Amino acid sequence: MTNYLVVGSGLFGSTFAYEAAKRGHHVKVIERRDHIAGNIYTKEVDGIQVHEYGAHIFHTSNKKIWDYVHQFAEFNRYTNSPIANYKGEIYNMPFNMNTFNKLWGVVTPEEAQAKIDEQKAILNGKKPENLEEQAISLIGTDIYEKLVKGYTEKQWGQKATDLPAFIIRRLPVRLTYDNNYFNDTYQGIPIGGYTQIVEKMLASDLIEVETGVDFFDHKQEYIDQYDKVIFTGMIDQFFDYQLGELEYRSLRFETEELDEDNHQGNAVVNYTDAETPYTRIIEHKHFEFGQGNKHKTIITKEYPAKWSRGDEPYYPVNNKQNNHLYTKYNELAKSEPKVIFGGRLGQYRYYDMHQVIQASLQLVGQEFGEKII
Ligand SMILES: Cc1cc2nc3c(=O)[nH]c(=O)nc-3n(C[C@H](O)[C@H](O)[C@H](O)COP(=O)(O)OP(=O)(O)OC[C@H]3O[C@@H](n4cnc5c(N)ncnc54)[C@H](O)[C@@H]3O)c2cc1C
Repeated sequence: MTNYLVVGSGLFGSTFAYEAAKRGHHVKVIERRDHIAGNIYTKEVDGIQVHEYGAHIFHTSNKKIWDYVHQFAEFNRYTNSPIANYKGEIYNMPFNMNTFNKLWGVVTPEEAQAKIDEQKAILNGKKPENLEEQAISLIGTDIYEKLVKGYTEKQWGQKATDLPAFIIRRLPVRLTYDNNYFNDTYQGIPIGGYTQIVEKMLASDLIEVETGVDFFDHKQEYIDQYDKVIFTGMIDQFFDYQLGELEYRSLRFETEELDEDNHQGNAVVNYTDAETPYTRIIEHKHFEFGQGNKHKTIITKEYPAKWSRGDEPYYPVNNKQNNHLYTKYNELAKSEPKVIFGGRLGQYRYYDMHQVIQASLQLVGQEFGEKII
């Protein structure tokens, strides 16, 4: 029997804790925030499940992961179909025949493709050297100007002409009238929110959970005290930034409760112009088809923010330089044989929920010598 310490009660740490306890091991989970579940945390207000850290839609094509997560919650049939608001004009996302019809009046896929090709020609076959050129080479100038430029510049805090082309290697372009954002086979939102998934994962008698506790307050004692540590915080912080800082993007959320039933008619509306300071507004009740108080609704404005130490690191910035630095931290991790780094921050990788569950189950397989996934 092993005594594990799991640092961070997000999906990676909690999946591991659940599987370890199922095999009879003791697990202590510590969490810096005052609640469990990491960034998938949802909280009920007025009968509405509020996604505290941004819109979370579960999607996967992996049947095993879809079945796995169903042990912990029932899912609704929510399909992610965000809309874009460009200075009051509404467009469907991802870019599809509905978008092209509204923009250009085209009706057939052939007409839409011809329009995109005509606009791409402005580059004269030049190899894209920045994000602007890359976007135009993929979807032409109109969509770039109205739906990509302002949004992307707000997201990254830089001009599109200064951003590298690789950020948008591909843009989802569909020549069908299909507003479903994801291509995956399965998607939905857990009925009753995400927090219950983690609550159930951590419910075993063999798991002890402590919130409001920062690992770094007693780092060495923890490492000495436990047989193994599963660390899901920032890998550069673990090593006291000794090789330099990895870069992250942060976010600021502004949540309001409004005395109306239906504010924007959709769960997610992206604001794609440069002037509106936020990138999107989420209206939480639409994730569960308007369930909750009929006289109230809750909306959250999402503002991209520069990250500096002490801020929440929402997105790793996986450019060449940061990935190279991460490789060096990963090498350094070998000097800590008792510590396993996992999850979005521990592995410095933009994992979606299904990927983080899969990565955690792979670790379970390695740790217990089983073929799980
Ligand atoms: C805005 C946003 C929207 C997203 N939308 C989607 C989506 O629609 N679909 C999808 O599949 N995925 C989405 N994701 C990704 C999803 O949130 C992640 O896949 C998942 O939460 C990662 O789980 P994790 O356990 O790796 O990390 P986290 O959820 O970040 O958990 C890590 C935990 O460790 C804690 N911690 C860190 N350092 C310490 C410390 N020193 N001591 C104690 N505790 C510590 C943190 O407080 C945190 O709770 C989104 C992410 C963001 C940011």
